[in-house]
Amino acid sequence: MSLLSVIVPCYNEEESVELFYQELMKNQEYFHKEEIEIEILFVDDGSRDKTVEKIKGLRAADARVHYISFSRNFGKEAAMFAGLEKSRGDYVVMMDVDLQDPPALLPDMLHAIREEGYDSVATRRVDRKGEPPIRSFFARAFYKLMKKISKTEMMDGARDYRLMTRQMVNSILELREYNRFTKGIFGWVGFKTKWLEYENVERAKGETKWNFWKLFIYSIDGITAFSTMPLMLASLVGVLFCLFAFLLIVFIVVRKLLFGDPVSGWPSLVCIILMVSGVQCFCLGILGQYLAKMYMEVKKRPIYLVREEE
Ligand code: UDP
Ligand code: MG
Repeated sequence: MSLLSVIVPCYNEEESVELFYQELMKNQEYFHKEEIEIEILFVDDGSRDKTVEKIKGLRAADARVHYISFSRNFGKEAAMFAGLEKSRGDYVVMMDVDLQDPPALLPDMLHAIREEGYDSVATRRVDRKGEPPIRSFFARAFYKLMKKISKTEMMDGARDYRLMTRQMVNSILELREYNRFTKGIFGWVGFKTKWLEYENVERAKGETKWNFWKLFIYSIDGITAFSTMPLMLASLVGVLFCLFAFLLIVFIVVRKLLFGDPVSGWPSLVCIILMVSGVQCFCLGILGQYLAKMYMEVKKRPIYLVREEE
């Protein structure tokens, strides 16, 4: 018998919890045949609706259901980390509760790890159906940028839906950083990963917890956590500007020697000053981003706080 832990982060998902459970249980026969026991770990990320009650209801009926309930909303990253910490399974899978990560893929995923010798099976959606076009555009741009500025592999369209061996989970748990960007962490720890592709499934019930602004902030987390290239960018821009200034000085001196010096060019001067101070602020901002992340890391605050668990 081997144990499979299913980690399910939930934030205000009262409509989805039971649906998810039913859908997952459709694999029951397969689990039984393959001698796989399961534990389902719901992580309630400080929901303000009836999510916890729904989970407790499931727990009362099925002892394989466990839950952790946070003291407030700590974010999906924290919820996934808590789930990984609490999981005991030989295999661990992370799934969204909204059924956008189809439980029907589990048999194929388990097969790849048990029979084909992979350490992890990840999923990516090949389209972004049902998503606002502007969101898709920026998401694609983000992955293109990350490919250029980070050594860590991050796949466009990758979901957090992933099955892993205990060995890989333990490796992930060693990364105790406060600013967590799981998509990068998966890539960073490495291991042999098989990618499964599927068409985007739209949310079964409820609505997405991510708006554009939240995603934008999250992408900055991703960049600062897995690349120091922006810091280099600051020095690069500095050098370019010095070079440009030097050429300009030469040009002005030569012009003065040849044609004298009629006073002109005030507007252009103002523009240049404005632009240079803009660039300086931008570079300071980049520095500030890294400093802020460092500040949060240095505090070593816990990644999440538990209100109750069972
Ligand atoms: N989630 C969470 N904490 C949050 C936001 C979301 O635990 O602060 C959970 C949510 O309940 C769901 C999963 O993370 O199970 C994915 O969220 P969502 O479906 O809103 O994201 P999307 O699929 O739109 O990217
Ligand atoms: Mg979703």
